[in-house]
Amino acid sequence: MPPPSLPLRIDVPGQRVPLEPPTPARLRAFKRHLIEAMRDLVGARRPERLVQKRGPDPSGAADAGVRAACGHCGGSCCMAGGTHAFIDDRTLARVRAERPGITARAALTAYVSAVAPRSFRGSCLFHGEAGCTLDRPLRAELCNSYYCNGLKDFLKAEPQPGQVVTIVTHAGEERTATL
Ligand code: SF4
Ligand code: SF4
Repeated sequence: MPPPSLPLRIDVPGQRVPLEPPTPARLRAFKRHLIEAMRDLVGARRPERLVQKRGPDPSGAADAGVRAACGHCGGSCCMAGGTHAFIDDRTLARVRAERPGITARAALTAYVSAVAPRSFRGSCLFHGEAGCTLDRPLRAELCNSYYCNGLKDFLKAEPQPGQVVTIVTHAGEERTATL
């Protein structure tokens, strides 16, 4: 474990595309995707088997570093979320297991009402200016468990409170944070 005074560095991709409101076509595509995922869930023979165990969230200094890094990065990995946000029948199976009795309509409403008013161009519809607008229990397991290589290395280093971390994007934009 490194001493608390040792500075750490996190390399992140960094994205800086502009924000824009969701287009009607993108919203329609997302609703279609959700309905298809719900159909897959309803048609599953053993839906309980689709539920994936949720991994533990980082806490303390690790959590502070992840938040600072993802904030400075701007959520590059979320750009791949497009109009599906990685949500599938497994995501909906977990939502249903955690909220017994939730109807398909209520689930659809919960997702659609969480869409960011402005999201980064071409990115996930929940990728808002201040981060993800979707509550963690509604996110795909991939969203809740993904760390890019820079963050994996950071977490492996077992960061400690008080450590200073320098976060650097691929374009060389730097910021520091104290954990
Ligand atoms: S996980 Fe990595 S790529 Fe994704 S937002 Fe955070 S720093 Fe950026
Ligand atoms: S749902 Fe949230 S965490 Fe997942 S890709 Fe979209 S913005 Fe990123």
